[in-house]
Amino acid sequence: FRHGEASDVVVSTPNGPVHFGEHHPVVLVAGPCSVENEAMIVETARRVKAAGAQFLRGGAYKPRTSPYAFQGHGESALGLLAAAREESGLGIITEVMDTADVEKIAEVADVVQVGARNMQNFALLKKVGAQEKPVLLKRGMSSTIDEWLMAAEYILAAGNPNVILCERGIRTFDQKYARNTLDLAVLPVLRSLTHLPIMIDPSHGTGRYEYVPAMALAAIAAGADSLMIEVHPNPAKALSDGPQSLTPDRFDRLVQDMSVIGKAV
Ligand code: PEP
Ligand code: MN
Repeated sequence: FRHGEASDVVVSTPNGPVHFGEHHPVVLVAGPCSVENEAMIVETARRVKAAGAQFLRGGAYKPRTSPYAFQGHGESALGLLAAAREESGLGIITEVMDTADVEKIAEVADVVQVGARNMQNFALLKKVGAQEKPVLLKRGMSSTIDEWLMAAEYILAAGNPNVILCERGIRTFDQKYARNTLDLAVLPVLRSLTHLPIMIDPSHGTGRYEYVPAMALAAIAAGADSLMIEVHPNPAKALSDGPQSLTPDRFDRLVQDMSVIGKAV
């Protein structure tokens, strides 16, 4: 692994450069699980920006457990993300699942996301490592920290130094009350092992919106550089991950609560 001082990943967005790193405010990434239509993505962008987010997240290509579940709108959703970016000035983070889609996603995204299910898709890691946009690498749901860091190493070794690590919960023996077990211990552990910035995703980490604020605040207290939070204008109607999505009002309240904890946001 590359050792040494924590170093920033700097991402340029329409609103200016955003620094992910230990000595900078917590970077807030918020938005729906999936990009559903233009009105909802533009509205979400406007609301999360007003609350203080720097990035809009939203899936165009969705990795769904069931092939019959909503798979994302694909290329047309990329166009909607571009519109939301233009309108809000927020940076865009969206997932790539297929090596064939890397280029067109990187045209729209300011940060390209590799999801938990593809953490060890080595062809994909090499491909995102060979392009210029920063990469958000989520931890595989059953991956060790060493496996995760070696996956990051694939991207670094391919020539892209800008990797952000995102903990999103792992599989443990008890999946009854929370979708996953959010492993916040990665914060001090990764800090001792790698210079890469660390994001926490309490939405996928818990699967329940009621649990998101507590874990978001805990992540900040434990030193997270960034948070990813799912926000949907009408979670009850969401096409994916409604139960773990905050409303814009709830997100706004959470950001206000964050400002009293540790590192400013
Ligand atoms: C997501 O962020 O939309 C997602 C699918 O997350 P994960 O890969 O962590 O399950
Ligand atoms: Mn989701």
